Amino acid sequence: MANKGHGTVLSMTFWGVRGSAVMPGPTTLKYGGNTTCIELMAGRRRVIVDAGSGITNLGMAMREEPPGPIDILLTHLHHDHIEGLFFFAPMFTPGTEITLHCGNLGGESPEAGLRQCYSPPLFPLSFDDVPARVRFRGFKAGETLDLGGLAVRTHPLNHPGGATGYRIDHGGAAAAVLTDNEHTEPWPDPALVDFVAGADLVAYDAMWEQGEYPKYRGWGHSTPQMGAALVRAAGAKRLACIHHAPHCDDERLARIETEIAAISPGAFLAREGMRVALPATQ
Ligand SMILES: [Zn+2]
Ligand SMILES: [Zn+2]
Repeated sequence: MANKGHGTVLSMTFWGVRGSAVMPGPTTLKYGGNTTCIELMAGRRRVIVDAGSGITNLGMAMREEPPGPIDILLTHLHHDHIEGLFFFAPMFTPGTEITLHCGNLGGESPEAGLRQCYSPPLFPLSFDDVPARVRFRGFKAGETLDLGGLAVRTHPLNHPGGATGYRIDHGGAAAAVLTDNEHTEPWPDPALVDFVAGADLVAYDAMWEQGEYPKYRGWGHSTPQMGAALVRAAGAKRLACIHHAPHCDDERLARIETEIAAISPGAFLAREGMRVALPATQ
């Protein structure tokens, strides 16, 4: 699955792949129960997409690292994408600078929303109480971000309240994260096809099975089949399904994975802890 060899220019590590609710337990051991958090490494430059409960394990893995600037790109502020923020160890490391970016608030920064969630009586601490220096940055999805020389493209997604998709091109490889997103009519959306054109790996909100989707129309999520159609139309290489539904146990997810791999070569359902390394392809 993962190419851990030499020549890796870009990698994607899945620290949390569950959508909506944290689902630990014996029936989710294989795919994982933590909510969304994805780490992208462009060379030695780290970018974190979302701060769901999965960011806790990422923070633990970073404990031995010297403090440095950390960029967290939030797809949006729904709980399952921010609930791990204060359990992220670097938040408590003096000298750390954390910048929280968000693109679905009309250009406003995520500060007001996050402070609302992270202050008493909802939480014992606020951003002013932690040793890390936390910054907030708003942008409008569609802009290209410059993270210390690394360009990150962004794209608006179809979700209640909006959400932002991210794409990184580095050293001849490209990876994108699109969650949370409900497919639109017609599909694939031409603008989204352009956004992920030629990407080596596309992580896509595939929360519902195609058959159950009509029940959840308007909830802001999509299906593996719609992800496969997007990847195919965009000439992208590989689909990673993410944001697994809380009601899907390992057995059901394994069945869905077999089905999607049969129609989309190389497609898989992301598992917590999995790392996919991309070599330069150009
Ligand atoms: Zn979500
Ligand atoms: Zn959401």
